Amino acid sequence: MIEPQILAALLGYLEHRNATQEQVRKYIRYWRSSPRDPSVPCPICYTFRGRHSGLAALHEKDGYMPLVWHSCNETFNISAQ
Ligand SMILES: [Zn+2]
Repeated sequence: MIEPQILAALLGYLEHRNATQEQVRKYIRYWRSSPRDPSVPCPICYTFRGRHSGLAALHEKDGYMPLVWHSCNETFNISAQ
């Protein structure tokens, strides 16, 4: 299961950008309840821009899993180990 690692990494990015605990909680709720596909909403767009941006790419490579949201150009590299 990669999802807990993704979640932990994305929440780390949110905290790095000074998101409040309430904003982090809202993002988690939004992610878990989002019926849209792909199912990983961009945390930056949701939290700071108030809009949905679905995940565009998720391909493991060299032990890392880049998450790319093309609509906003956010890219996160997540360790796949
Ligand atoms: Zn975004």
